[in-house]
Amino acid sequence: MYEPQGVLPILANRNLSAAAKDSPRLLPRAPPRQASTVTVIPTTAPHASMSQPACPVCSLTDVLSHSDHWECATCGHEWPKEAVAEAARVVKDAHGNVLVDGDTVVLIKDLKLRGSSGVLKQGTKAKNIRIVDGDHEIDCRIDGSAMALKACFVKKA
Ligand SMILES: [Zn+2]
Repeated sequence: MYEPQGVLPILANRNLSAAAKDSPRLLPRAPPRQASTVTVIPTTAPHASMSQPACPVCSLTDVLSHSDHWECATCGHEWPKEAVAEAARVVKDAHGNVLVDGDTVVLIKDLKLRGSSGVLKQGTKAKNIRIVDGDHEIDCRIDGSAMALKACFVKKA
C-alpha cells in the first residue's frame, strides 16, 4: 500500500537538518584575556596564625610586627606587644630576659631583707622560682626561706 504520508517525515527531517545548518552557530570565542601582567600575591602572611591587632590610635589594621612591639604603618604609632597579649604576664629580669616558673635566677646586687637586718648577697641563687602578681614578681626560696624578689634585681642563671 502506498503511503504518501510516509514521505513527509523525511522531508521534514531534511528541513530540520537544513534549518539546523542555517541556525546560528556558536562561534568559538577567543578565550578571555588572561591578565598575565598581574601577579597574584598570596594573602596568607607568614605569621597568619598570629592575630594582627588594630592600631589603638587610628584603628587601622595595617600593622607591622616587630620582635617586641607593633608599629602602625598608617600613623606610625608604636606600642608594646605585652599590652596586647594580656593573657600571659611577662616578667623580665634586669637584662630583659623573660622569666618563667621554674627558672633559676641570680641576684645582681645585695638586697636588704625587709623586716630584718639580713642581706641577700649578690650572686645568691634562687632556684625554681614562681612568677606571681604584684610588685615583687618572683616567689622563691633562698636558704629555705620564702622570698619575694623584684625581677629587676635578678638575672636568669
Ligand atoms: Zn595607626
